[in-house]
This record gives sequence, structure tokens and C-alpha cells, in this order.
Amino acid sequence: MPNLSKQTTAELELIIQHLSEGHAEQRRKLEAINTVNKIVINSNSLDEMLDSILGEFLNLFDCQRAWLLYPCDPHSKFTTVPKEKTCPEWPGAGEDVFEVPTDDYTRKVFSSALSSSAPVAYDSEKRCPHSATNDLFGVESMMVFAIHPKVDQPWLLGIHHCGKERIYSDNDIELFQSLGGRITDGLSSVLSLQKIQKSEALQRALLNNTNSAISIKDLDGNYLLTNDYYDKVFNNNGRQITGKNIHDLFPDNTCQLIESNHNKVVQQQQSLEFEEDLPTKSGIRTFLSERSPIFNNNEVDAICTIATDITTRRRSEERINHLAHYDYLTQLPNRLTVNKELNKALELSLELNQYGALMFIDLDNFKTLNDTKGHSYGDKLLQDTAKVLLKCIRTSDTVARFGGDEFVIILPYLDKSEQRSLEEVILVAERVLSSLETVFVGDDFQHHVTASIGITMFLGDDVSPEELFKRADSAMYRAKNSGRNNFKFFDPSLQHELEYRAKISSEIVDAVLSNDFELYYQPQVDDNGRVIGAEALIRWNHHEKGLISPIDFIPLAEQNNSIIELGKWVIQQGVAQLAQWKKNPVLADLTLSVNVSAKQFHQEGFVESVIQIIETCTEPLNNLKMELTESLDQSDIDGNIAKMKALRLAGVSLSLDDFGTGFSSLSCLSKLPINQLKIDQSFVKHISRDESSDIITQTIIGMAHNLKMEVIAEGVETQEQRDFLIHNGCSQFQGYLYSKPLPIAQFEKLILDKNGYFEN
Ligand code: C2E
Ligand code: CA
Ligand code: CA
Repeated sequence: MPNLSKQTTAELELIIQHLSEGHAEQRRKLEAINTVNKIVINSNSLDEMLDSILGEFLNLFDCQRAWLLYPCDPHSKFTTVPKEKTCPEWPGAGEDVFEVPTDDYTRKVFSSALSSSAPVAYDSEKRCPHSATNDLFGVESMMVFAIHPKVDQPWLLGIHHCGKERIYSDNDIELFQSLGGRITDGLSSVLSLQKIQKSEALQRALLNNTNSAISIKDLDGNYLLTNDYYDKVFNNNGRQITGKNIHDLFPDNTCQLIESNHNKVVQQQQSLEFEEDLPTKSGIRTFLSERSPIFNNNEVDAICTIATDITTRRRSEERINHLAHYDYLTQLPNRLTVNKELNKALELSLELNQYGALMFIDLDNFKTLNDTKGHSYGDKLLQDTAKVLLKCIRTSDTVARFGGDEFVIILPYLDKSEQRSLEEVILVAERVLSSLETVFVGDDFQHHVTASIGITMFLGDDVSPEELFKRADSAMYRAKNSGRNNFKFFDPSLQHELEYRAKISSEIVDAVLSNDFELYYQPQVDDNGRVIGAEALIRWNHHEKGLISPIDFIPLAEQNNSIIELGKWVIQQGVAQLAQWKKNPVLADLTLSVNVSAKQFHQEGFVESVIQIIETCTEPLNNLKMELTESLDQSDIDGNIAKMKALRLAGVSLSLDDFGTGFSSLSCLSKLPINQLKIDQSFVKHISRDESSDIITQTIIGMAHNLKMEVIAEGVETQEQRDFLIHNGCSQFQGYLYSKPLPIAQFEKLILDKNGYFEN
């Protein structure tokens, strides 16, 4: 006979149908098994299943109790009665699961049940042992069977016949065993399912009770699983993410980032960590995403990602970083950052071969102010200073607070030329000093800030940042010592240059008084070689420095306005010289050109002062010429014209110096009462060597003719230049071809020796 306990309900029913009348016992058994089978299949819960099965046992075995004990373990201290059915109802029976200590009697029963593969029957042959329970319920016969579901420990299934002994037949035992088998199967599947459900619930709980966004995606970016946190953070519409693709959730650039990180995991076949900025419902946040490969047949076919939001951590790191590198009060970079920036600037300077500069700025009298006006006042002043300094620099420069009232400016690259770099730095330093004067603190109180600035230049990186700070610092102290509100350079040679300029600039006026200036004269010659005039060119016989070129001091004189005095002296000298020449027939007709700088010309009262000088002459003066530059202020053309006309009336003729180098429109030029154009020497120098110089020279000559002006070429050094000029219609020359500018005695000797003529 097949193992009936393993048959399906349909099979059992088929067999039952075909059993003949004589097989009543067999039929009873099969029907019982089928009934239990159906119960197992149709029960919704373990409780319902056991309830029904044990109820069926009462009928099948005509017993008073059917029960289950758990666990069937002689070593367990407690035993529960998960289920029992009684008939009739016994007091206390059928109560909810209760736990009883495992006594010796129960232990023995458990042991014998476990050591037998068949049910153990206690009836007249094997007397039912005495126990408190058996005595209480009057148990006369008992049959037990250890059942072993796949999950957890064995159970003990038992029936009691009470009040009257029952002798168990082989059929009873067999049926009991079969039904026990069915219960084992039923229990196994229900308990397994329960266990799986429980472990799934645990896993789910684990997934959903974490503060990480967990997802599993296939390699095409389709979501296979996400946890609640993931859904909450990334899914905007709150709908299920599983089944969607990353492209349904994220913009393209985020998808590209995720895909590229996935690819790295696939390629390296190992877990990798990434820091990713991902868009969430509450904006972009930073996640630390651990991406792990999931293998299938040794190939990665999905990626599990556990992403932890580290935005707060990142922000506090940034905050700490900011605190470490920036000054809390002014928000400027601090000392630490300055060191880094200076190192960078040195490298850059080396790489580009350009000068850089470090500026050390110390506010004057800050400490007194801070002590007398209070710290909040001082703080506000420092903050305002920071704002002002930021406005004085280019974006590539760095302003930092070095500590206290000390600020630093790094100008990382200036120029390849030392001179131009110097000029740029000076410009910044001057801007800083003048801008600081506008700093004010408080609503009703204004405070002008001054500072002392020390500057050091660098080229390349052969000086350490520390050394540069020392140099800038020492320069700053020198600035403080020399009266504050100024700047000083460290570099000794630059410092020397600056000091030199400052010195001569301050000495110009005194030098006029002490007669340290001298006029040199350079002859002007016509196309017959006749000397027609001279240009007066100033020289400075400095008591210490020797002869100084006008190129070095005229710009300074213009800057500090001493050009007015100086220019006046030149005119006086020139006029006096002309008066002298009158006495000598060879020199009497010479014109004398004096240079007049723009600032001098625009000076109020200039014309009057010229007339005054001319009037000192006893004889009328008609051969003084003034060389004006093209860069005369174009805004007041009418004013200029009026001045020029007044000069002309006073007998002064006018020449436009350095012609061709500045800007002058023809229409404007035609209105000016000018007698002469002076072709700049830069064109003359390149005659016959540079085609454009030839053309410009020809054009200037043509223009002069058209405007009925004279034209003279300066810087004529060669016969060839002179020939070209003559050929093109210019018939007046000045230059080394004839003579360099000479002191008056030598000049006069030259002209007199030649009797007023240079041989052609
Ligand atoms: P500038 O008015 O263009 O003067 C001509 C300059 O060219 C002079 O230089 C002269 O020495 C130089 N020179 C003359 N012939 C030749 C030549 O053949 N070859 C070369 N290479 N150079 C030649 P210097 O005397 O050094 O004067 C320089 C500038 O200083 C003048 O340029 C003028 O702008 C200014 N300057 C000189 N004296 C005075 C003055 O009294 N007042 C003012 N405001 N400026 C003056
Ligand atoms: Ca000149
Ligand atoms: Ca000139």
C-alpha cells in the first residue's frame, strides 16, 4: 500500500470511491486523512488548522482529549500546550497557550516518543503512568507521537482516553501515525511560511528603519528595490519607485553621474564609495553612496547602493574649513590662507616670468582709536577697511587680514617689465591710500583712515614667503617712520630709484633758485646750410648727481607743478639770450625755440607771464618760438586758440612739437594759429628704412604746405635723411648731422666759426 499520508486530496478521493464495502476500516482511515488534508489546505491560520484537526481527532478516536505540546524536548525547562481539545469540556481545558514546568513524567514521555518512529501507546499492555495531570483528568489510556516539522523543534501530539481504558488497535496506531504525518506537513508549511514572513518583515524593517537611501538597480538603471527612505527622499510624486528607471527620477546630468559611478563598480567588480550631489525633494544634497556589485553567475548584473546623506557633515566641514582659512570679523582670508596664496603667487611668477608684489598694510593709530572709541567701533572700522581694500584690487589679487590692524595684499602677476610692474603696484598703493580716506564708521561720525604700506616685489620663487613678509614688514615700518600715510618699497634698488625720484622732484624749485639749470642749444639749419635758429634744451647740473637729462626730471616737474617755475625760467633765459644775440650780426636773426609743456601752457596767467618777460627787453622781440605738444587739452580748443593768438600778438611764433605722434585732426589743425610743424624724430629716424615713416613724413610735409605752415624735421642724423626731406619739400632741419645740443659758449663758437653756415 502506498504511503497514504503523502497522497493529495484528489488522489485520496479517487481511491476512496473505488474501495469496496469490505474495506470499511480502510475507508474510515482514508476519509480521516482526507479530512485532515482538507483542513491543512483550507485553514487560514495555524490556530484554525490545529483547532480543526484536534477537534477531528476527538471524533476519529472517540477520545476525551487531543493535544499538542511544544517543544517536545526532555531538556527544556518549560513546556507549552499550544492547543488542546477536550470532550466533554474539562475545567481549565482549552485555555490559551499556557506554560508548565517540564516534570519527570513529561520528560519520560518526551524521550520515549522521540526515540520511536511510530506513536507510543499507553494502555493495558503499557500502563499509563501516574502523573498529576493524568490523575486529575482520570486518564486511563494515552497515545503520543513526536512530530518533526521542518522548522524549529519537534512537537508532541497526544490523545487521552479518560475514565475508561482504551486498547489501541494497530489500525488506531497506524491512523494516528498517518494523521501525525499530515500535521507534520501542515505545520511545516505554515511554520516555514511564518518564518519567511517574519524574516522578510525583519529585513523590511531593517531596510526601512535606516537613515540611508537603499536601492538595487539593474545595469540599465531600472529599480529592482528601494527602501522607504529612498522613496521619501527621491520620489517627488511619492509613488512606487520599483520598476522605474533612474531617468524617470533624475535629470540627465545626475543620471550620467550615477551611470558613470555604476560603470566603475562593474569594471572593478568591487564595492566603491562615491560622494555624489543629488537632487532631492529638499534641494541638492550630498550623499556618500556605497555602491556594491550584485553577482549572478560571476557577472555583475545589478548594483546595490546605500546612500547616506552627509550634507550636514559636509556643511560643517566647510564651515570648519572656512573658520580655519578666513577671518571671522572681515571674512577675508586669514594668515594661513595668505601663506598658501603667496606660495601660489611665487610659483605663478616663476612660471610666467612676471613680477608680483606683496603689500603689507598697517592702519595708522588704530590701537589708540580702538582703545578710546571701544572695540565694536574698532571692529566696524576693520570691516569697512576690508570692504574698501577689496575695491582696490583686481579679481586675481588677494586681500587678507593678517591679524590685528594688519592687512596684506598679494598681487600675483603684474608685468614682465620691472618698470611697468612698479607703476602698477604704485597705482594700487596710491589707490589704497586714497580709498581709505573715505572709510567711515557710525551713522553720524566720520573717521578718515590712513595707513602705512610696505611693499616688496618678487620675480620667480627664490625668496621664501617668510622672507617676503619680513621685507614687506620692514618696508611698512619705514613708511610709518617717514610720517605715515605713505608707502615704501623694500627692494633696495627700487627703493633707491623711488627715493631718487622723490629727492629730485623736491629739489627742482630750489635748483631754479640756485641756478643749477642750464640751457643747451641745438642749431636749426635750412637747405642751404644756413643756421636759422636754435632749440633751447634744458639740463640740470646737479651738485651730487652730475648732469641730469630733462627726460628724467621734466615729467617730475610736471607732476609736482614745478614746471611752472622751471618753464618760466627757461623763457626768461631764452629771451635774455635772444637779446644778447641781437648784439652780434651773425646771431642777431636766429630764432630761439623753447619747449613749453602742456601743463605750463594751460596754467592760468601763462600768456601774461610770457608778455611780462618779453617786455623786460629794451628792443622789440620777434624771434622767440614756442614748441607746444600735440597733446594740448583738446576739450577747450577755443581757449587754446585764444591763448595762441595772444602769444602770436606778443610776437611769439608757435611750433607743434613731436608732430605725428599725437592725435590731431586736420580740421582742428587748420584752425590753430601755428607757424610750424615739427616732424617727430621717430619718423625721421626711419626714413628710407620703413615705408610707413616715409609716407607719414611726406604727408606731414604736404599738410604743412597746404596749411601754409613751415615744417622742420628734428633728429636728422644722416645726409640721406636730409636729402629725402629736401626732395619731399622740407627745408629746415635739426639734429646730430649738424650738432648736438651745446652749452651756450660752445654753441656760439660753433656758429661764429662757421660764420653762420654749415657746408652741405
Ligand atoms: P624734444 O623737444 O623732442 O627735444 C629733442 C630731443 O632730441 C632733445 O633731447 C635732443 O637732444 C634730441 N636730439 C636732437 N637731435 C637729435 C638727433 O639727431 N638724434 C637723436 N637721437 N636725438 C636728437 P633732450 O635734450 O634730452 O630733451 C628731451 C626732451 O625734454 C625734449 O624733447 C623736450 O620734450 C623736453 N625738454 C627739454 N628741454 C625742455 C624745456 O625747457 N622745457 C620743457 N617743457 N621740456 C623740455
Ligand atoms: Ca622740442
Ligand atoms: Ca621733439
